[in-house]
This record gives sequence, C-alpha cells and structure tokens, in this order.
Amino acid sequence: MSSDPTRGVVIGGGTAGALVAQVLARHVDEVVVVERDELPDGPHDRKGVPQGRHAHLLWSGGARIIESLYPGVLDELVAAGARSLGVQSDLVSLTAYGWQHRFDPSQFMVVGSRPLLDSVVRRRAAAVPGVTVVDGTEVTGFTGDADRVTGVTIRPVGGDEARELPADIVVDAGGRGSRTAARLQEFGIGHVPEDVVDSGLVYATRRFRPPPHLAAFPLVSVYADHRTGTPGRNGLVMPIEDGQWLVTLSGTRGDEPTSRDDDFLEFAAGLRHPVVGRLLAEAEPITPVHQSRSTKNRRLHYDRAESWPTGLVCLGDAVAALNPVYGHGMSSAARTVRALGNRLRRHGLAPEMFAGVQADVAAAQADPWMLAVSQDLAYPGCRIQLVDPALQDTAGRNEFVNLLGVAALRDPQVSAAYTEVASLSSPVTSLQEPGVIAALRSAQLRPALEEPPLSARERRMLAATVAR
Ligand SMILES: Cc1cc2nc3c(=O)[nH]c(=O)nc-3n(C[C@H](O)[C@H](O)[C@H](O)COP(=O)(O)OP(=O)(O)OC[C@H]3O[C@@H](n4cnc5c(N)ncnc54)[C@H](O)[C@@H]3O)c2cc1C
Repeated sequence: MSSDPTRGVVIGGGTAGALVAQVLARHVDEVVVVERDELPDGPHDRKGVPQGRHAHLLWSGGARIIESLYPGVLDELVAAGARSLGVQSDLVSLTAYGWQHRFDPSQFMVVGSRPLLDSVVRRRAAAVPGVTVVDGTEVTGFTGDADRVTGVTIRPVGGDEARELPADIVVDAGGRGSRTAARLQEFGIGHVPEDVVDSGLVYATRRFRPPPHLAAFPLVSVYADHRTGTPGRNGLVMPIEDGQWLVTLSGTRGDEPTSRDDDFLEFAAGLRHPVVGRLLAEAEPITPVHQSRSTKNRRLHYDRAESWPTGLVCLGDAVAALNPVYGHGMSSAARTVRALGNRLRRHGLAPEMFAGVQADVAAAQADPWMLAVSQDLAYPGCRIQLVDPALQDTAGRNEFVNLLGVAALRDPQVSAAYTEVASLSSPVTSLQEPGVIAALRSAQLRPALEEPPLSARERRMLAATVAR
C-alpha cells in the first residue's frame, strides 16, 4: 500500500532557505522553495536581500554547518573567488579594547560578496534531488488553523491569482520581513513576546578597486569602543572576489554615515584610527554608497507563544535578526537549520517535532543574540525593550568580558578561547571553563600595540600610498 507523497514548503530562498532545503529533503518526498525574487543565475544583487550589498563575513562556526550540509561547498566558494582567512593571522583588527596581535589561526572566516556566497550555496540547494525552487512567487498566507498549518497560499509576483500549496511542513525562512507573527494572530494565537535592542546603527557600503600596490592588503577592521558613552563608529575594508574591496562604514544613533558618496571618505577618516581612510585615499570607487537602516536586534519568542501549530517552523532572521557588526547572522541562521535537522532526525514529522522545535531554535540563537546585543546596550540613545531576563543584569558579565577582551588581544591562549566563541564554534559558557580561567590568570601578555600590527611588507605598501 503506498501512502501519499509528503511535501515541505520553504518560504524564502536566502541563507536559511537554501540550507533547510537539504535538511527537509531527507524527510519528505518533495521540497518546494518559494522565493519572491526572480533568482539570478550568478552572483547578482537582488531586492529580497537588500543587505547583500553590505559586507558579509561568514564565521567558521556557521561555515562548518554549511559544509556539513553541502560537502565541498567551502572549496567551491574559494574557487569562485571568496577567501578563507585565518583568525587572527589574516586580520588587522582594532577591537573595543585595542589592536589585536595577529596570532596563528585558531579559526577562520570566509569573505566574499553576499551575492557570491548565496549563488554558490543556492546552486547546491537547487541540485538536491526532490528540491524545486519556484521563484518570482510570493507566499501570501498560511492555510489551516491555530492547531495545524496545512500549507501556504502563493501568488506570482505582480499576478493576482493566488493558489494553495498544501504541505506537511512549512518552514518560514523569509528573513527580517517575515509575517508569521501577524499570521499567527489572525489564527487567534496571541501576541508573541519580543525583544528589541536598537542602537540606531546605520550601514553605508561602497565597492572600491584598490590601487595595484595595495591589492594584497589584508582585511582591516576598526571597531568602536562601546564603553566611552559616545556613539560608536566602525569601518571594515574587506577584500572580496575580482580583486575588489567592499568597504562598510557604520555608526550608531547620533553618528550615522550618510548615503552621499561625497561624505564617505570623511566619515572613514573619523574612525578611531586613520588606517581605513589611508587605504581608501587612492582607491577607485566603483559603486555608489548603499545605505541600510535594517540593523536592529529583534528577537521573537515563538518558543513562548501561547500555542504553536503543528506543521510550522520558523528559522533564521524570521525569528532573531541581529545587529550585523559581529557578522553572526548567517551563522545563526545555519544553527537554526541544524537545530531543525536534529529534531527531525529524532521525531520525523510527528507532532512532538513541532511542539518543541521553536525552543530548540531559540537555544540555537541564544549565543549569537547575546553577543550581538551586549555591547549595543551601552550606546547612547539605544532603544531597549526586553522580555528576556538574561539581558536585564549585564554589569557583572560585562566586567568579565572586558577582562577577557583585553587579554585576548595579547595572549594567544585567551585569544583562541575568545575566538572559539566569537566564531560561534563553542558556546559562550565555555569562557567560564577552568582551562580558560587558568589561561586568563597565567596570561603572558604581549606588549599592547599602539599601531596596527602590519608586517614589514604591509607597512611598505601603506607607506607608498601615504608618500604620494
Ligand atoms: C547590513 C547587514 C549586514 C550584514 N552582515 C552580515 C555578516 O557580515 N555576516 C553574517 O553572517 N550576517 C550578516 N548579516 C545578516 C544576514 O544577512 C542574515 O542574518 C541572513 O541573511 C539571514 O538569513 P535568512 O535566510 O533568515 O534571511 P534572508 O537571507 O534575508 O532571506 C530571506 C528570503 O526570503 C524571501 N522572502 C521574504 N518573504 C517572502 C515571501 N512572502 N514569499 C517568498 N519569499 C519571501 C526574500 O526575498 C529572501 O530571499 C547582515 C545583515 C545586514 C542587514
């Protein structure tokens, strides 16, 4: 006797959507990824992922999850022009606490334009047997009721004919603009508790072609010090494919970058160190400035909703969207996909799978959320609405983090422990393990660096620019 084929529907073909397609394909006969945009063939910007014009770094914690779903994908990314950088050896970084010594790598990050990262992963998703990507089509609602979501309604973009697409599991991977909370309210499920931490961060990004003598310069980041009581200003020069630099500047409420091309260099010159401004002095801008204000930390506590329908799962930014400065969003989305995969392995599509899935998703996002909001809380004018008690008492924790932050700059062992957490490779709680405390106590601090830790060759490259 044959049973009806099972179907999973994924809302959105961004980071989480492209990853969850693979996970679902192991548990249902057919996966349909519904994406509002017409998906380009290669690495091109698209409307549904406006953040894609800004610098996106993929930490090793997330990269490993993506590699586990699509073996070989990291090599494909590098072959397509992305770079895998050793952390800290390949970075020149001023953190809140000072310049970071360039210790031997203990973790890595993958850098490239977001459209490049997406296009490579998306190609792998589309090749999974049983997966169909329906683009140029939007999900307009859920079918079912408060007890069970039975599918979605979809409509071609610009068309007016909606049709139903039944599903055994619907996964919302629709990103920051997800409508799930409102749709649940239409089903009679009450308001979903929400945390918001909004430092008013504004991003401004422009692509440059570096002058030939700076083509091999490493990634440079200059971060604000959140402890000064003034707005924070950050800058990042990220080498990406085609020999370009993606330069992202950002500022919190009261010190935001504008979207005017003419203001870009002046804003860069006002960072805590002039190195970014110096690098840009002879670089050729190849795009206008793109601005983004969609940066606030917002976390929906679906795990605490008064009820949750069988058939529905919500992942990635649709649950928790983070301040992007720490580069955790894609890794956080990947962690939620892994959490769903683990649950599906245990329960299949049984009601127990859905009953606890949002608690597992919340657990997967707890660390990235904590890392994203902790410093933001200190910025002037930060708008805060918190239901999570874990964030309401940060004073003691901040003192410990400050100690660690200083030691991590100058001691390789502490740096490695800190980087494990920053790269989302180990939980935040690992910092309180005896080994880390011992390393902190016996730290052999290298001298504090007054200037960027450049090699002799890099210093010559920079001097050639300054001398002209
Ligand atoms: C300025 C900025 C910079 C960032 N920098 C970094 C970084 O350095 N590193 C990092 O890891 N993360 C970064 N992020 C975060 C990262 O972009 C997100 O965390 C990540 O894209 C989340 O993936 P997602 O799949 O949840 O959503 P998305 O990747 O945004 O995908 C959502 C998809 O759903 C589609 N969609 C939405 N609604 C519908 C619908 N109704 N029907 C059909 N399709 C729909 C959209 O078109 C889109 O394709 C940054 C974010 C911003 C705003």
